[in-house]
Amino acid sequence: MPRTVVTGGAGFLGSHLCEELLALGHEVICIDNLSTGDTLNVAHLTGENFTFIRQDVTNFVTIPGEVDYILHFASPASPVDYLERPIPTLKVGSLGTHNTLGLAKDKGARFLLASTSEVYGDPLVHPQTEDYWGNVNPIGPRGVYDEAKRFAEAMTMAYNRFHGVETRIVRIFNTYGPRMRLNDGRVVPNFIKQALRGEPITVYGDGSQTRSFCYVDDLVRGILALLFSDLDQPCNIGNPNEMTILEFAEAIIRFSNSKSKIVYEDLPEDDPKQRKPDISRAKSLLNWEPSIYLDEGIKKTTAYFKDRV
Ligand code: UDP
Repeated sequence: MPRTVVTGGAGFLGSHLCEELLALGHEVICIDNLSTGDTLNVAHLTGENFTFIRQDVTNFVTIPGEVDYILHFASPASPVDYLERPIPTLKVGSLGTHNTLGLAKDKGARFLLASTSEVYGDPLVHPQTEDYWGNVNPIGPRGVYDEAKRFAEAMTMAYNRFHGVETRIVRIFNTYGPRMRLNDGRVVPNFIKQALRGEPITVYGDGSQTRSFCYVDDLVRGILALLFSDLDQPCNIGNPNEMTILEFAEAIIRFSNSKSKIVYEDLPEDDPKQRKPDISRAKSLLNWEPSIYLDEGIKKTTAYFKDRV
């Protein structure tokens, strides 16, 4: 039975990964400091093959026994969260990545880094391919996340080249689904919450900025395909169905039959103007592409939020 560590395992993506890995027959060790994660996300994962450890991977990490895979997903990931926690965000991306890579080296485990489309910053190449180096403001408010993840990628490749650790890097584009926090400040929970309450939908800027939204089940399938592949170069995983934020707001109102009106608020600093993954690499090397349409994914996510608004 493979033994797998998931850092950030009580978070949105981490908890879905723990669940899927258990279903694949792995023993799963979930590490989380619960700064943005929640034990409720893993409360249903009981049994002897699942262990939860409350720990901050910014500090030295030890796990007794063998480990086959390490998935490093610990980090605040919503712009609101990382703006509120700038230094922990920098630390978990840098020190946390170093510690978990050290663990992978010690155990001879394969390491997968959760990276992000934010490494492309406010991109000047569209759609974004993995060979684009990005357009990041290192000293802007989002720099704490973007640069931490860029450092994490550099550290991961250094362990790959210098120590021969087997590594994988997934660049995750906007993802949504059950277990996002209602108040994490990201556009999907914000709009669904506002639509369900009949409150105004807050579009930042004029809403012409674009995003491409991937449903969590598609994303998890892509990440596991990457984990079990031999691809050590970064790989975009996301849904290339691009839309403006204004179109997205209108879609949420339509899907939920809401009476909410759209209001416009200030655009946050350095908010990327466009984002869409080029998924040719994942398609050709992992045989992966998303299959869940926005209306279906939003329906499932809305059902989750209904009990929580
Ligand atoms: N956004 C918005 N209204 C909100 C929250 C976010 O218009 O209530 C916009 C935000 O400015 C950005 C996009 O939606 O252009 C996606 O924001 P999110 O915080 O989900 O993540 P990002 O893709 O910026 O990392």
